[in-house]
Parts: sequence; structure tokens; C-alpha cells
Amino acid sequence: MFRCQMCGKVSGAGTKSKKIVVATREREYKGNMDEFPQRRGGRFREPRKPRDRGGRGHEIVKELMVCASCAEAHNAKQAAAEAAAAKAREEALLAAAPEVSEVTDA
Ligand SMILES: [Zn+2]
Repeated sequence: MFRCQMCGKVSGAGTKSKKIVVATREREYKGNMDEFPQRRGGRFREPRKPRDRGGRGHEIVKELMVCASCAEAHNAKQAAAEAAAAKAREEALLAAAPEVSEVTDA
């Protein structure tokens, strides 16, 4: 049982909440490669730490606990937005590409 953070309704007992991500940000992970090489030999050396190259990624800024119908609505909206963004990107690419002159071989 929980209160949906989107519509504010209280769900029935026993229903599970869904989590939706509403905000993300770019994140750069540093990793620990600058700590290497660590060369401390001997019998009682500490175990090696796993190497972490770091990298780029996304980090969740805000997450909401919502009911199933709200999650579905959100997912649909997100998919639509993504499709629109993909289309816009494609159109931008087409606009940026040099005009392809039609080949008219007779
Ligand atoms: Zn809801």
C-alpha cells in the first residue's frame, strides 16, 4: 500500500508500486586508475582492489513511486518524446546533409 506520487491516490493493499525516473543528469565517473600501479610486495600485502576505468553515464536525479496506470502513462509519454526526438534528430541530419542532386540518366 502506498500513495501514488503522481495522482495522489492511495493504492489498494498488496499492490506493488512502480518507480519511474523523471530526471537524470550526465555523470562522469573517475574510476581509480590513477591509484595504479600499486606495488607493495611482501607476504602481508593487501589484496588488490578491482580496477575501475570510470567512464560516462547517467545518474538518476529524481524518481517517483507511482501506481501502475501512472507508470504506464509516463512510459507512453516517454516513448513518444523519445520517438519525437529521434525524428527531429533525423530531420536535422537530413537538413544538414548536402542536397543530393537527382541523377537523371537518359
Ligand atoms: Zn498514480
